[in-house]
Amino acid sequence: MKHYRIAAIPADGIGPEVIAAGLQALEALARRDGGFRLEVESFDWGSDYYRKHGAMMPEDGTERLKAFDAIFFGAVGAPDVPDHITLWGLRLPICQGFDQYANVRPTKILPGIRSPLAGVGPGDLDWVIVRENSEGEYAGCGGRAHRGLPEEVGTEVAIFTRVGVTRIMRYAFRLAQARPRKLLTVVTKSNAQRHGMVMWDEIAAEVAREFPDVTWDKMLVDAMTVRMTLKPKSLDTIVATNLHADILSDLAGALAGSLGVAPTANIDPERRFPSMFEPIHGSAFDITGKGIANPIATFWTASQMLEHLGEPAAAARLMAAVEQVTAQGILTPDIGGTATTREVTDAVCEAIRSANL
Ligand code: NAD
Ligand code: MN
Repeated sequence: MKHYRIAAIPADGIGPEVIAAGLQALEALARRDGGFRLEVESFDWGSDYYRKHGAMMPEDGTERLKAFDAIFFGAVGAPDVPDHITLWGLRLPICQGFDQYANVRPTKILPGIRSPLAGVGPGDLDWVIVRENSEGEYAGCGGRAHRGLPEEVGTEVAIFTRVGVTRIMRYAFRLAQARPRKLLTVVTKSNAQRHGMVMWDEIAAEVAREFPDVTWDKMLVDAMTVRMTLKPKSLDTIVATNLHADILSDLAGALAGSLGVAPTANIDPERRFPSMFEPIHGSAFDITGKGIANPIATFWTASQMLEHLGEPAAAARLMAAVEQVTAQGILTPDIGGTATTREVTDAVCEAIRSANL
């Protein structure tokens, strides 16, 4: 029997609530499938750890994660710890330390979930956003000078490298090629940002020659928000920089019904290191402890994790179970229902166990 080692990092806010739900579904899948086993080790890293130790994780944190096949991550963020500390203290060191340069964010409208867009239903919006996840605007370069003085300066330098842009572009073209419509939209802001962004456009054109069967076009990021809202059906696979794709994928999540259904996979395509799977949303402290966090984003990312581990049948079964439950109208309040996290999770686990999926 195959055996996978999973590092669970539930971290902050609703992170522990949705990760518990995700692990319950994964357990039900492993039992149902019988062909694989998951060994899960949980780490208590996050804002509580920071309050005790002055760091979000131990110094050898990423080193310890190397032994795992995948990382299952909740969310970081607490009202009393600055966001840049929680983010740069835990999530980004893992993404960057393990060179998880491809961040893959599928979005579609699941049955039974209503998009805020009038007349847009399942089938009208089925996208996957590929976010460059290793450099760009989140390269961590910049600085502050003359602190506190009127002439204080703060810079945030976006770094784009030929290697970094080429590899994400190839990843996106390959993904577009594997999808039925073979359609890719390359997003930049190359009218105003005339160095790194123009290089993106040039590299897109170069890489496109390797994929003659993929139809591709270019969009400026501001116009892209309009196209996503008004012509969702005209889009399929999308590739954008770290910052642009961060913003566009929150919009995508909202257009598909809620941030609570949007998943993300931080992938090292070369498989040198463990990849990390998480919901897109944050720690949502406005609903923490109320038992109403939507676990669907976490189920969906668990499905991405199974796919990555090489268990496509279990991955598909999990999504089929989720769609069966949403179609039945068993929904949390963020998507218009009255169900709790537990009720949705139990219904999904029941659907996993049922014979016809
Ligand atoms: P958020 O994603 O936590 O919440 C935004 C809104 O969406 C809130 O109203 C929340 O209740 C709702 N929401 C989010 N996930 C939900 C779910 N699963 N079910 C139901 N409703 C859900 O974003 P925010 O409020 O801007 O940030 C809160 C904290 O999370 C901040 O500290 C922020 O830095 C952090 N954050 C972390 C990550 C991450 O860990 N990857 C991502 C985004 C934000
Ligand atoms: Mn984000």
